[in-house]
Amino acid sequence: MSKKDYSKQDAKHHLHPFSDNAALARDGVRVMVKGKGIYVYDDEGNEIIDGMAGLWCVNIGYGRKELARVAKKQMDELPFYNTFFKTTHPAVVELSAKLSEVAPANFNHVFYTGSGSESVDTMMRMVRHYWASLGKPSKKIIIGRWNGYHGSTIGGASLGGMKGMHAQGDLPIANVVHIEQPWYYGLAKDGESADDFGIRAANWLEEKINEIGADKIAAFVGEPIQGAGGVIIPPKTYWPRIEEICRKHDILLVADEVICGFGRTGHWFGHQAMGFKPDIITTAKGLSSGYLPIGAVLVSDKVTEGLLAGGEFNHGFTYAGHPVAAAVAQKNLEILQDEGIVDRVHDKIGPYMQKRWHETFSKFKYVDDVRCEGLICGFTLVKDKATRELFPDFGTTGLMCRDIFFKHNLIMRACGDHMVAAPPLVITKKEIDTMLAIAAK
Ligand code: PLP
Repeated sequence: MSKKDYSKQDAKHHLHPFSDNAALARDGVRVMVKGKGIYVYDDEGNEIIDGMAGLWCVNIGYGRKELARVAKKQMDELPFYNTFFKTTHPAVVELSAKLSEVAPANFNHVFYTGSGSESVDTMMRMVRHYWASLGKPSKKIIIGRWNGYHGSTIGGASLGGMKGMHAQGDLPIANVVHIEQPWYYGLAKDGESADDFGIRAANWLEEKINEIGADKIAAFVGEPIQGAGGVIIPPKTYWPRIEEICRKHDILLVADEVICGFGRTGHWFGHQAMGFKPDIITTAKGLSSGYLPIGAVLVSDKVTEGLLAGGEFNHGFTYAGHPVAAAVAQKNLEILQDEGIVDRVHDKIGPYMQKRWHETFSKFKYVDDVRCEGLICGFTLVKDKATRELFPDFGTTGLMCRDIFFKHNLIMRACGDHMVAAPPLVITKKEIDTMLAIAAK
């Protein structure tokens, strides 16, 4: 097959996720063949800045040979074994210890999965099992947020608040409800401060609890910063108030850190940046920097104790704690630690990105709500800054903008008309300047 044929061949046999496949077949796709640092290369030799770290996951950048070496060694020694029936293996033991080391002190147990969606589904079953174990089986309802994203399985898509996903497949499933997202720019009242809005938005949770009854609610789940919803960064007052409400009503608090985890916000976990303490943390993506599929649900001591009291948890995936993925994740975490990548995002490259991001985008007539925390950034395309009026057909303008960037060899993503970026955490100042110069053209 010649290089040029890949795009055409792809259309013959491959159905892409989250894509209009008829349009892809008509317009063609770009064929990525190589990656190095923050760059990916297509089969026509173009060097493309990956401003999205793949899908918010290639935290240590492309082409780290150490990960390939570790994967080969593990493949040679033990390519697969399961962790179901009284067995384990060194790779998963070591990764679990490493995760306990990088997680907050009260997180000492981990349940493995193959992806973020599986982590979310696992968590949904786990919180119900936890309450049943404590003799409160009526606590089943899980509260998520509109415009949150928690994956594509039936559980994850239900918990997420993407109405387009709900529309395709009779979702959400039973016992999943939503409250409004903490989107200050779009939902604040005239003259309301960000802090006041943060408290008001968090109080929507308490209103929902009062409506349903805390005795029926298992957990509240949110991304510390909504990623796929368009990098919605809540006001600083939001999460501490959410935590207070969960504690008051005895409801588990879950941070879905599939995007925010492993350095994205300049902390190991996004909840640390947002100032709250969860009971469960769902992860994937940055855990292996996307080099192999693996997810993990990090479980606090309090929740572990409840689970252990409940006997067998009838749940698990064949690839849970897959040896090769575990070995790669372990090496990835070592690289993040040894090279001080998380601190670098916090102290140096994050602040630089924030400054340059604001300088670059604030000046455009149709750009507003320019925002950035660590290395997760967004802005919104708006028709009128003064009135905050959005463009009609939310998302159409974003897609146009995304396609223009892509033509200029820059990958950024449009989440509706929110334009977002989340480059590899190893990006340099010079690379940030190049990326933003392309975007501002
Ligand atoms: N949770 C969050 C917060 C995510 O952003 C995602 C994916 O983007 C998921 C869950 C689902 O992860 P995956 O696509 O690995 O199933």
